Amino acid sequence: MGTEVRATNITWHGGEVTSEMRQDRMRQRGATVWLTGLSASGKSTIARDLERKLHEGGRISYVLDGDNIRHGLNKDLGFSPKDREENIRRIGEVAALFTDANLIVITAFISPYRQDRDNVRKLMKEGQFIEVHVDCDVDTCEKRDPKGLYQKAKAGQIPEFTGISAPYEAPLKPEIVIPSARMSVDEAAGLLMTYLRKNRFLL
Ligand code: ADP
Repeated sequence: MGTEVRATNITWHGGEVTSEMRQDRMRQRGATVWLTGLSASGKSTIARDLERKLHEGGRISYVLDGDNIRHGLNKDLGFSPKDREENIRRIGEVAALFTDANLIVITAFISPYRQDRDNVRKLMKEGQFIEVHVDCDVDTCEKRDPKGLYQKAKAGQIPEFTGISAPYEAPLKPEIVIPSARMSVDEAAGLLMTYLRKNRFLL
């Protein structure tokens, strides 16, 4: 569907302002911190905490979050495997543009398919895609269930619910694993800050 190329006679335009010039101005190098994991594993909560920590440190970041994107850009998409693929493809393109604009992008999507996440990685320069597995067992997610989704899924009211009636493919070689059942939100966001600092995304 979305990957079909319809436009012809189009050329990519580079600007006069280079990545290096943006990096000097903004004291950071653009990256996408891609959080993936089950519903209620803690992606949104950790994303918000990381965003706050970055902001307090004078950095410029932006969170792309599941429900918000489905209100707008992707409101025409559902949860079938094809729609999930297209959902992640579009988000990946947006994340790649924001990363090119030198922002620290933080995304919080279940993004259950390995192939879809790998495709997003390919849109970015080496090192810019930081895959973070927010690793939490289903039982703990079910107990948290902040939106009551597991309860609904178990009652058969939500078809194709990841972890219950749809698959989750864990990353094979994520840059970072956050065991969120036994790590606080503050520690998790702190771990991500350390990674960004160590790998010179924060200058
Ligand atoms: P997701 O975005 O993965 O669906 P949310 O962040 O919306 O998950 O929900 C996770 C819930 O679990 C929140 O209510 C959060 O307060 C709670 N929670 C408890 N412990 C943690 C932790 N260590 N890390 C992240 N979230 C946690």
